Amino acid sequence: MSTGTETRPTWVEGADGSPYDVDNLPYGVFAVDEEEPRVGVRIGDQVLDVAPVAAAEMLDVHDVFNQPSLNALMALGPSAWASVRTWLTRLLTEAPERDVVEPHLRPVDEVRMLLPFEVADYVDFYCSIQHATNVGRMFRPDGDALLPNWRHLPIGYHGRAGTIVVSGTDVVRPTGQRKGEAGPAYGPSTRLDIEAELGFVVGTPSDLGSTVATSAFADHVFGVTVVNDWSARDLQAWEYVPLGPFLGKSFATSVSAWVTPLAALEGARVPLPGQEPPPLPYLRVDEPAGYDVAVEVLLNGEVVSRPPYAAMYWSPAQMLAHLSSNGASLRTGDLFASGTISGDEREQRGSFLELSWGGQEPFGNGRTFLEDGDEVILRSTAPGTLGGRIALGEVRGTILPARP
Ligand code: CA
Repeated sequence: MSTGTETRPTWVEGADGSPYDVDNLPYGVFAVDEEEPRVGVRIGDQVLDVAPVAAAEMLDVHDVFNQPSLNALMALGPSAWASVRTWLTRLLTEAPERDVVEPHLRPVDEVRMLLPFEVADYVDFYCSIQHATNVGRMFRPDGDALLPNWRHLPIGYHGRAGTIVVSGTDVVRPTGQRKGEAGPAYGPSTRLDIEAELGFVVGTPSDLGSTVATSAFADHVFGVTVVNDWSARDLQAWEYVPLGPFLGKSFATSVSAWVTPLAALEGARVPLPGQEPPPLPYLRVDEPAGYDVAVEVLLNGEVVSRPPYAAMYWSPAQMLAHLSSNGASLRTGDLFASGTISGDEREQRGSFLELSWGGQEPFGNGRTFLEDGDEVILRSTAPGTLGGRIALGEVRGTILPARP
């Protein structure tokens, strides 16, 4: 049993050894009653209201915490992110700080969590070879499951930033056009699905015309969020040829309320499973370039899948290098997501499309796609740097009936 401060990492009660210990410290934006939303840091089951503490301590960047989004903090860049993290760790571990800091802790269930960052652009990739193979087999049964480009570049598309919503936001069943028995039909989607993904949030921008090397990943990426990229498979299957995803994806994408700093995932880094053939030089990475993040998909409280992020073929550093390889600039608040995470096993598939094999093989309690009233929760954990496991923020969403 620990008795002295030297063996007790944090003085916050209940936080020591929890999934939100001092080796995690994710950032979010919270609101209480009529107060202005501002930046919070999670420790245990508490949210630290950072702004008043930063002001009292005259931190030179204290203004970035009294903001309704993380963008100002994210724009400061990696040396400031590291300094702030060191400062926060000191506040939460050194006993003399307790009197100043403790009055600014609030129970997490007494605050409202808001969308943590102002989303600039949204790019969604397709980086799981298991997912791409499964979808290819279902959507193109007579052709090759993997198209010839797949092993040479991380396939992606630009999504819709304005429909990214925070965990807890209800999702209205989308309406749209699909292929019917006697020609195209229009109506509520009949094959509404999830996609369990991780998302990477850009802090440091880049100049138009410049490229970002794989080695510069940590200079630009502030942190990681869990993503549910809701997908209407009937709309998607009809519309996606030849330009790719459009309305089947753009109606809603949910992200966690907490953004986990990249530094908190240092203990989760693992080598990629292997790339064959080796990618072109601009996509080569220094290993370990993958992340050992374990994801759980819960449908109405039951775990229906456990997708392993460590199985992903393309790394986030390669996604970033590729999306900027034409000189496209990065902006603070850009979000790029991995694409559905699927492992080798059936119970590791990150979408209902794959779990039910296109609706032909019901899973769980005879389920194929989402029904009105269903609640989906994505939970994720990863090895922390102190030997335990840290939690990424959960992503929760409930399906509401289509609007008439
Ligand atoms: Ca997706």
